Amino acid sequence: MKPRRHVCDDCHQPIGNLEAVLVNDKLLHLNHFRCHLCHEIMDATAAFHTLSSSKVACTGCFSKNMAPKCNVCNEGIIDNGVTAAGKTWHSTCLVCNRCRKPLTDTFLLDPLGQPLDHDCFWGVRLQKIVADSFKQTG
Ligand SMILES: [Zn+2]
Ligand SMILES: [Zn+2]
Ligand SMILES: [Zn+2]
Ligand SMILES: [Zn+2]
Repeated sequence: MKPRRHVCDDCHQPIGNLEAVLVNDKLLHLNHFRCHLCHEIMDATAAFHTLSSSKVACTGCFSKNMAPKCNVCNEGIIDNGVTAAGKTWHSTCLVCNRCRKPLTDTFLLDPLGQPLDHDCFWGVRLQKIVADSFKQTG
């Protein structure tokens, strides 16, 4: 049986009397507390995100890789998201899919989940109704 030593989970060297952090039951040298994705050393006192039992990511990588993606620009959304019908947008990316007007508080989704303002939504509806009625009679 090997004696249980305090070793850093990153460099596998003894912690010794260096400063260490305990993350998800693993010890790491304070200067080996890295983001799993960009491998940058993280500030253990700042915000970070746990990916799985032994992996952590900085907020920057987390937003890029794990946060909900904007339906328009595909960038991660941290705090300015708008969610509807299971999709998420940056509030700044949320524009009408037809006329590109910024959508604020009220908007509608077409059958493909694209956001539309009221005018365009009813415009599309109307076109479809007219097209369908032509199909039926023709
Ligand atoms: Zn280490
Ligand atoms: Zn990172
Ligand atoms: Zn966006
Ligand atoms: Zn519109």
